[in-house]
Amino acid sequence: MLTHSDYQAPEGFAALPTAIHHASTVLFKDVAAMRARHWQDKSAYTYGLHGTPTSFTLEARLAEIEQGEYCLLAPSGLAAITLVDMALLQAGDDVLLPDNVYNPNRELGDWLARSFGISARYYNPLIGAGIADLIEANTKLIWTEAPGSVSMEVPDIPAICSAAHAKGVLVAIDNTWSGGIAFAAFEHGVDIVMQALTKYQSGGSDVLMGAVITRDQALNVRLQAAHMRLGFGVGMDDAYLVLRNLPTLKLRFDAHDASARKVAGWLQSRPEINKILHPAFPDCPGHDTWKRDFTGAGGLFSVLFDARYSEVQTDQFVNNLKLFKIGYSWGGAHSLCVPYRIAQMRKDWSHEGILVRFNIGLESTEDLIADIEQALARLA
Ligand SMILES: *Cc1c(COP(=O)(O)O)cnc(C)c1O
Repeated sequence: MLTHSDYQAPEGFAALPTAIHHASTVLFKDVAAMRARHWQDKSAYTYGLHGTPTSFTLEARLAEIEQGEYCLLAPSGLAAITLVDMALLQAGDDVLLPDNVYNPNRELGDWLARSFGISARYYNPLIGAGIADLIEANTKLIWTEAPGSVSMEVPDIPAICSAAHAKGVLVAIDNTWSGGIAFAAFEHGVDIVMQALTKYQSGGSDVLMGAVITRDQALNVRLQAAHMRLGFGVGMDDAYLVLRNLPTLKLRFDAHDASARKVAGWLQSRPEINKILHPAFPDCPGHDTWKRDFTGAGGLFSVLFDARYSEVQTDQFVNNLKLFKIGYSWGGAHSLCVPYRIAQMRKDWSHEGILVRFNIGLESTEDLIADIEQALARLA
């Protein structure tokens, strides 16, 4: 009685939210049905790790938003990056990454190079068509990130893709900054889109999840095989939280975007700030590419303080902020601020001044600007 019950809930329930289907074990009606079912076939179910109606629905929605065909979920954005590398690279291969790449992606690249016989090389994110000169016979994958999420250079994705495809190399993009809605990655030529759903899609600073989206069936089959072997499952409660927040994705993204441009515009006129690294502002490397290819900007940008301020002073500025909390990530309702030791993260950093990154949340911009103003005033 504690384990088995004859009760069946009545049929015909209808509601707007996607139901949360938890499962490790999936049931088959008989052995023949079990043997006939293939884990890669998404028209049916085999085991919780390969999906339930909840995760299948989230995958389909994300593929639609990115204008792709196939989607696989991973337990974090970084796990989604790992999935792409494990599916497409083997010993003897070469991968190219932008020098401004999300730092854990660089850690992974260096690890693949140190321990797995793969070479990982870094290129100037503004290289454009010049990437052709770096492609070797064993280059299998080029990572891009648009823009780099700390220093904000906007790469010329169509130029990189044309050069890569001319030599039969696949291009993956970390499209997290655009939320999948301000940059049509496939239309601009990429083969694989990676998203950290941890950011805008979940929107609540409470979920870790990633996605890999493709248009090409054969490519999806390779990714699916790696996904199965790595055992990358996600929790259905988390999948539900992302589904729950997708309908407001564009509203939230546009609100972050408008507020970030207001705050960045105000910072631009301040003598303490040397450069605004926001793709919609002319100081930002790749600004013209952003204008050509993107339809929005979201809430994340960085500034370079005037070179007269030391790190001790800019750290104090960050400590003196009250509404802006100190913490990584973005895409939630709360504004965040993080100083970066950017020169230590990069091979080719030549700018002066301390870099501080802002994530503009959903608070009132007047309050945010007043907060920054009081912290700048205490810099003197
Ligand atoms: C946050 C982030 C990731 C990784 O996402 P996690 O879910 O935190 O692992 C990858 N790329 C970018 C650009 C990110 O901001």
